[in-house]
Amino acid sequence: MSVPPGTAYIDGDFVLMAEAKISVLDWGFLHSDATYDVVHVWKGRFFRLDAHIERFIASAARIHLSLPVSRAELVRILAECVVRSGHDDAYVEMILTRGVSPTFSRDPRDAVNQLICFAIPFGWILRPEERDKGLSVAISEIQRIPPESVDPRVKNYHWLDFVMGLYDAYGRGAGSVILQDASGNLTEGPGFNIFVVQAGTIATPHRGVLEGITRRSAIEIAEELGFRVERRPVPAEAARNADEIFATSTAGGIMPISLVDGIPVGSGGMGPVTRRLIDAYWEKHGHPGWSVAADALLSRRFPISD
Ligand SMILES: *Cc1c(COP(=O)(O)O)cnc(C)c1O
Repeated sequence: MSVPPGTAYIDGDFVLMAEAKISVLDWGFLHSDATYDVVHVWKGRFFRLDAHIERFIASAARIHLSLPVSRAELVRILAECVVRSGHDDAYVEMILTRGVSPTFSRDPRDAVNQLICFAIPFGWILRPEERDKGLSVAISEIQRIPPESVDPRVKNYHWLDFVMGLYDAYGRGAGSVILQDASGNLTEGPGFNIFVVQAGTIATPHRGVLEGITRRSAIEIAEELGFRVERRPVPAEAARNADEIFATSTAGGIMPISLVDGIPVGSGGMGPVTRRLIDAYWEKHGHPGWSVAADALLSRRFPISD
């Protein structure tokens, strides 16, 4: 099997990415019964690691999973994956699956929860050289799984709505997709949140979405720059009339959306608000309040107590 180069932590050991394998009986695989988080490392520094760890721990608690290691051990494991991988710019994922029930019982409480972490090369939804061009998205009729069914604040692998949405978008000549809720409001895309800029005001959907850490960063940076940011329902129509639209994700940061259903957004290219936010976002990556060196975390003694 050909996989990206990197290091994984699985069954308590560090292994090459190609050797990181789970049982086909893991509920994570059989039932998408898992939660996960993705943090990135840029120039050797984790970006907002604490926020990602907090969301991961909160997600696990919401779906009755328990982390087999302490928070401090988790940090140490993630740092070790990064340092062993040798990647300066890395995509770092932590996964907690329900695991395997030794008797194959139908009771999820019998399964032994399993932690898997890995570091592979940084992956972009939109590469920096394509930023000026922006993303082309379709707004699909396929509805996002409602928050009453699966809590989207728990980062999860229930992706068939997104994947079917992607095929819908490809069929319409777009490169990615945004799904709507039952009332025709925008939710999010496969792994990214959405912001709409109109008349200098920035709005982002307030519910039915994962509360992205990049979304939070974009809100904080926009407010620092003096913009007003509203968390509220954003009708699909608003996207069609917006001056600017951008997407946010750990896999690529803040990314302009330049085409919606084949129609240019605003004047077509990257808008001035999006550009300012992108510059400030990458500038924060060297800031000690927002980032920490992976090798500095590794040099802490292990195990350390919380
Ligand atoms: C991960 C993810 C996002 C983006 O969250 P970040 O923390 O910014 O990476 C948005 N929507 C969904 C469904 C996601 O899985």
